Amino acid sequence: MEFRDLKKQYQVLKPNIDLAISEVLQEGSYIMGKQVMQLEEQLAEYVGVKHCITCGNGTDALSLILMALDIRKGDAVFIPNFTFFATGEVVSFEGATPIFVDIEEETFNMDPIELEKAIEEVIQEGKLKPKAIIVVDLFGLPANYEVLEKISQKHNLILIEDGAQGFGGRIGDRKACSFGDIATTSFFPAKPLGCYGDGGAIFTNDDNMAELLKSLRVHGKGSCKYDNVRIGMNSRLDTIQAAILIQKLRAFIDYELEAVNKVAEIYKRELADVVKVPHVPKGYYSSWAQYSILCENEKQRENIIARLKQKKIPSMVYYPKTMNQQIAFGSEERVKKVFEVSERISKCILALPMHPYLTEEEIKAICKEIRSTICK
Ligand SMILES: *Cc1c(COP(=O)(O)O)cnc(C)c1O
Repeated sequence: MEFRDLKKQYQVLKPNIDLAISEVLQEGSYIMGKQVMQLEEQLAEYVGVKHCITCGNGTDALSLILMALDIRKGDAVFIPNFTFFATGEVVSFEGATPIFVDIEEETFNMDPIELEKAIEEVIQEGKLKPKAIIVVDLFGLPANYEVLEKISQKHNLILIEDGAQGFGGRIGDRKACSFGDIATTSFFPAKPLGCYGDGGAIFTNDDNMAELLKSLRVHGKGSCKYDNVRIGMNSRLDTIQAAILIQKLRAFIDYELEAVNKVAEIYKRELADVVKVPHVPKGYYSSWAQYSILCENEKQRENIIARLKQKKIPSMVYYPKTMNQQIAFGSEERVKKVFEVSERISKCILALPMHPYLTEEEIKAICKEIRSTICK
């Protein structure tokens, strides 16, 4: 059994994907070919924003935004304490300071109450200038944007949605990657919408911002690539990856997103009485980048992992370390603070196999092993 069965997905989509790749090879526009623009149009339409700007990966997508916003040394950027490293890394990369914010126990997403507290603290301390918030849609579930957007407006901060895991999620009719002032996603193979290499995208309704980002992703180009008006990056989505994504986006919209939600339902039915299964708030829809259960404690998690491994069922811990525990961020006072919820959750969370091609039999087999480990 695979944790995320990308090979099975390829077998299903093979005729379309092989054809799409071979078209790119024959056309010869390997960089910024027409498929890149086609994909950007389709993604913007799906998400419901004016502009989509693709780029090299989800990390660059965040970095390009921080560059465009001129975020630098002396600026504070608030990020959830429980996320993939890149969310905080990009802030430090620009020389700014990531301020970690604890998460909600129920959703694993940034806690708005903790965010307010963190902002007040930074203002009170008076050393850093609060500039932006990067909110993550962890494991595919959109964060609480109704409240988070109000907080960012109240404090005049830019709200960036890190939708690397969130693509396909919704709150009511609003789709992930349309929240806040500007949003990103990643096409890393294992993300909800993945390509066959690295890829990423930025979403915005702001015309000027879109123009600036298009310049920054090609060495700060002006009227052309050899007219350079600012310092930028080299971060484009390959034409081959765009061609693959056009095919994958169709499958994602047609049935994959529904299929992962079906998998989540079966897991819930089979497991809700023995472990804490993920909570999806009313009106929210997840794209299930991960299906993460909470075990009772570290020991129980070890037992479940061992039992699953014995039966050749993969499982993963996302994330064994919280942001404040990553030595890369140094050991200043703010890192030494205790983040009760995220630190506790990192010790008992466990992600189970999740992808659109899991069968009911496979899910039941996984759940049976978990149940028999717990109910000895
Ligand atoms: C994967 C991920 C990223 C980075 O995306 P890459 O395409 O791997 O650079 C950023 N933020 C979060 C929350 C992620 O899960």
